[in-house]
Amino acid sequence: MIENIVISSQEELEKIKRSIAEDGAEKLHILADFDRTLTRAFVDGKSTPSLISILRDGDYLTPDYAEKAHALYAKYRIIEGDPKISLEEKKKAMHEWWTVHFDLLIRSGLNKKDLERAIETGKVSFRQGALDLIDLLNVHNIPLVIMSSSGLGGDAIAMYFAKQGRLHDNIHIVSNLYEWDKDGNAVSVKEPIIHSMNKDETAIQNFPVFDQIKNRKNVILLGDSLGDTGMIKGFACDNLIKIGFLNENIEENLEQYKKNYDVLILRDSSMEYVNVLLKEILE
Ligand SMILES: [Mg+2]
Repeated sequence: MIENIVISSQEELEKIKRSIAEDGAEKLHILADFDRTLTRAFVDGKSTPSLISILRDGDYLTPDYAEKAHALYAKYRIIEGDPKISLEEKKKAMHEWWTVHFDLLIRSGLNKKDLERAIETGKVSFRQGALDLIDLLNVHNIPLVIMSSSGLGGDAIAMYFAKQGRLHDNIHIVSNLYEWDKDGNAVSVKEPIIHSMNKDETAIQNFPVFDQIKNRKNVILLGDSLGDTGMIKGFACDNLIKIGFLNENIEENLEQYKKNYDVLILRDSSMEYVNVLLKEILE
């Protein structure tokens, strides 16, 4: 396991761990991304699809949906990944992509049942050790706040947790939320829309979960993209440990990730390091 862990400063990390341990479980919460953080990035050597791409590539909605969604992907994914385009421009483009795509999903007949079917494919799977983490947090009543820009939204993530028998009271999902009519058809998406580039603006204060975490000023953040560290922005924490999953293109990204995260877990490895760290803090 050790060869897949990179720690920026062991000394600094130990200091923060001691502070968090002194304050105890009641001052701690976990802030985590969902896709490729709590879930695995690869299964059998193949890159795992996000919840939304399962829907895009499956035969769930009206026949023209997949083609139109792929066209949007082709148009906007280039902008998302282009290092020459400014963050501001990207944010505008991503907001547009998510908005147009939600509209397309709704017009293509998205129903709550489609989310269930996407979950049932079993193509999304928790990272090894993630269930242990979830159970550990539940035993100690530590909130697990999941912030996700998933196009399938918070309902799909909640369904996934429920399917694993893990939708405990300490789990809070901050994500896109559809409004459903009485037949389960999606009719609209609530603002604010969370897309791939605005997690740093997704002020947690505006969500009901804030009451549960505002006095828990020690935070362990889990993410897999550079933008995920932005989840903590605007929250005045006392102690923070940022743990990043660098799942692929390790060499190209290592230096940049080291600047953003305190600990890196490489190559889609298990949650074991996080579980051991938490146990050390809690004991
Ligand atoms: Mg992710």
